[in-house]
Amino acid sequence: MAVRKRKKKKKKDLQRRKPCPFCLDPTLDIDYKNVEVLSRFVSEKGKIVPRRNSGVCAKHQRRLAKEIKRARFLALIPYIVYTYR
Ligand SMILES: [Zn+2]
Repeated sequence: MAVRKRKKKKKKDLQRRKPCPFCLDPTLDIDYKNVEVLSRFVSEKGKIVPRRNSGVCAKHQRRLAKEIKRARFLALIPYIVYTYR
């Protein structure tokens, strides 16, 4: 008889969820012109920071990604940042 052990989800991982900064502060708007805000959600290599790291909710992450891409097109935010070694 094979008894399979179920993997338990760690409670710590589930509980630790940063609140979305855009939900907390409705005045903080996601806009392609608002480079100061957008650049906080872009890594130093120019990538969009994933939701699991930034703590942004799904709704706002979608808006954020769209606006970052718009800002990139207008050259307000770089597509890639080269790091020389
Ligand atoms: Zn949100």
